[in-house]
Amino acid sequence: MAMVRRSVKREAMLALLRSTHSHPGAEWVYDRLRPDFPDLSLGTVYRNLRQLEGEGLIVSVGVVDGVERFDANTAPHAHFVCTRCGAVTDLELPGGPELRREAEAASGGRISGCEVRFTGLCRGCLDRDMQT
Ligand SMILES: [Zn+2]
Ligand SMILES: [Zn+2]
Repeated sequence: MAMVRRSVKREAMLALLRSTHSHPGAEWVYDRLRPDFPDLSLGTVYRNLRQLEGEGLIVSVGVVDGVERFDANTAPHAHFVCTRCGAVTDLELPGGPELRREAEAASGGRISGCEVRFTGLCRGCLDRDMQT
């Protein structure tokens, strides 16, 4: 029974992560699943996120403002992180595959992963600046 319940929670977490492009952290997941799983703990969320990551179903996009953020989009893509509001958005860069080939040639090895993170101010933060 315990196994089944854990797996239901994990499926719910995966579905939730797949439903958003916001690259949320564990607390965001916890807040949204808590109504459906009153016995849910933050520790359980962390453990399940690690499991999902270990299974290759989600990826960690690293720490933003002290919070580790996760992504259900496991295809290689770059991220843009707003240094003010912490928004993390996907960037599809047409030169991506080429960069990978260049990295492989330069390393002399075989590239299996890539993390590209751009930082700056997002559109929303720029617009708020303009209004003041
Ligand atoms: Zn921003
Ligand atoms: Zn992403």
